[in-house]
Amino acid sequence: MEKPNVLIIGAGGVAQVTAHKVAQWSAEFGDVHMASRTRDKADAIVDSIRDKGRAQGLTITTHALDATDTDALIGLIRQIGARIVINVGSPFINMSVLAACIDTGAAYIDTAIHEEPDKICETPPWYANHEWKRREACERAGVTAILGAGFDPGVVNAYARLAEDEYFDEITSIDIVDINAGSHGRYFATNFDPEINFREFTGTVYSWQDGAWQENRMFEVGRQWDLPVVGTQTAYLSGHDEIHSLSARYSQADVRFWMGFGPHYINVFTVLKSLGLLSEHPVTTAEGQSVVPLKVVKAVLPDPASLAADYTGKTCIGDLVKGTRDGQPAEVFIYNVADHRDAFDEVGSQGISYTAGVPPVAAAILIARGTWDVKRMVNVEDLPARPFLDLLGEMGLPSRVIDARGDHPI
Ligand code: NDP
Repeated sequence: MEKPNVLIIGAGGVAQVTAHKVAQWSAEFGDVHMASRTRDKADAIVDSIRDKGRAQGLTITTHALDATDTDALIGLIRQIGARIVINVGSPFINMSVLAACIDTGAAYIDTAIHEEPDKICETPPWYANHEWKRREACERAGVTAILGAGFDPGVVNAYARLAEDEYFDEITSIDIVDINAGSHGRYFATNFDPEINFREFTGTVYSWQDGAWQENRMFEVGRQWDLPVVGTQTAYLSGHDEIHSLSARYSQADVRFWMGFGPHYINVFTVLKSLGLLSEHPVTTAEGQSVVPLKVVKAVLPDPASLAADYTGKTCIGDLVKGTRDGQPAEVFIYNVADHRDAFDEVGSQGISYTAGVPPVAAAILIARGTWDVKRMVNVEDLPARPFLDLLGEMGLPSRVIDARGDHPI
């Protein structure tokens, strides 16, 4: 069977990992293309792939593209014959990229939920505000659209599905815990796009508990977790994409997301937020200039990709799942540990970009092989988890489980 041409959209930290992994697994694909707003950044990524000696026999071409211009994107997809589009650009472009895929019949993969620039924290479930409105259109067009196929969302959704398939008769709670125990050595920086990162924490914290949406404020509910490799860490109840799909499939269970933060991050965040510097709404300066404070903060903070060279330490991200098996209470923790330095040595990126950038390539390979080519719109938990998690193990993101037998590979 002919290998599908693939188009990667975006040229940031996550796209760098995605492009390297596509190059490493190029036997699964036809021609590879990268399109982003700033073409130079895509060219730099291609150079880094060549520097690692991974471009032999690989056709990889870059393009300048504003992905909010659906017609231009449709034209590009047709011109290059892309059959799979991996969207690892900003989440503001999801709906236009999805529209282009529906029009051209190309498969669509992303790693974050769609966001509108001027709206933070829409009505839950968030997927219903944008992506899920195109479900029928995908089905009619026979388009495979896999939503949220990064690590979280993404792999953690597959962990919930693995728990459902292999460990439980009934699931009563899913607690997703994300700890970055790494250190980048800067006074303050975010691990991915600061604008997107802060937007996650300035709105209402939604969790799904007792069969309903619960509302909290950021840093209101904290809890200590004792985790493999990274040890005891404090994580806070946070709002996150995956709660908004997992709560539909596992509506009987409590679904919560916990993210680890140190006191320094919380302090800086609180000062910025209290001053109004994290607002997405424009303000007018004394000179009459209109500026969005959040965009100014982004402009002065380090580019997340620039943290990679000095980043040390590890991440641990996993799902604590509770429920019943054969009438008995049961509990498992399914997780991955990633190392920032290993990620840098392999693909020149930090660990957060690595954990987010590898899974969409695994999803693309499974579409190319037909295993996940489902011709409709799905979230990751709607698909069999085993092929995805086993492939990720081969691709550098192995998963482990702590269950009644102890701590072992899944
Ligand atoms: P970056 O900000 O580093 O990169 C975003 C890229 O998108 C940039 O190259 C940017 O171009 C490009 N872009 C923005 N707007 C457009 C546009 N209109 N047309 C074309 N290209 C555009 O972000 P990251 O790489 O850190 O994150 C990428 C995605 O991954 C985000 O959606 C993020 O939320 C998601 N993510 C998911 C995670 C997960 O585990 N699920 C974890 C981390 C991130 P330019 O260079 O010109 O600015």
